[in-house]
Amino acid sequence: MSEKDTKLDIVAIDGPSGVGKSTVSRKIAVALGYAYVDTGAMYRAVAYFLDKKSVNLDDDKGLGEALQAFSISLVPAQTDDDDVGIFVNGEDVGKLVRTPRLAMMASAVSKIPAVRFFLTEMQRSYGERGGIVAEGRDVGTVVFPGAAYKFFLDGNPRERAKRRYAQLLSKGELASLEDILQQTLERDDNDRNRPVAPLKMAEDAFFIDTTALSVQEVVATMLEEIERRREKFPPR
Ligand code: C5P
Repeated sequence: MSEKDTKLDIVAIDGPSGVGKSTVSRKIAVALGYAYVDTGAMYRAVAYFLDKKSVNLDDDKGLGEALQAFSISLVPAQTDDDDVGIFVNGEDVGKLVRTPRLAMMASAVSKIPAVRFFLTEMQRSYGERGGIVAEGRDVGTVVFPGAAYKFFLDGNPRERAKRRYAQLLSKGELASLEDILQQTLERDDNDRNRPVAPLKMAEDAFFIDTTALSVQEVVATMLEEIERRREKFPPR
């Protein structure tokens, strides 16, 4: 089978926190008319759910049973500047899960193989027919290794922490830049060094260092690369 027969019409965007993945993903999804899948929101939602149910994370059986009762609905944002809406078993948790505490909890539960398996299956079901932009840590490597358009965004940690800090302040959250930087480093370290589906660049991903680039520059570069790959390997 030739390479072009195996590619899925999916944009996979991976990278550490604060590189601008969510912002550019939403804009790319709007530009292409694709659905946007925020896989990090799904890990945050599971972390929220397991915490609320006081599930013991070391008990595989109990964890598996608890996940059977988890349902999530991701509601597309009204504009490409808004976050997606997140409902867990009908409860609106959009604001609750976008806190530094939940980010750290998501990073902790994302190491658990049963959680990864559960969410990876769900993410694959969203992409069955292609036409999605999915962002996270393992989208191009594990969830959709056959995606036609893969990107890996990275950037200087202090710059990334500054962006997260500005986002939190704009949402009225109290935060300290030094705390956010520490948490960013800790989360990246957890995500890069876990044994299952660690954060790493797929071999066929296009790398962009976003440190000194504007959102518009990153989006323009990505759309050009998508166009280039579409001509070379038309996706199925
Ligand atoms: O992207 P976001 O910061 O919302 O992700 C929260 C956490 O969820 C990450 O730090 C990571 O531990 C986990 N995650 C993951 N795999 C993904 C997406 C997120 O492990 N595909």
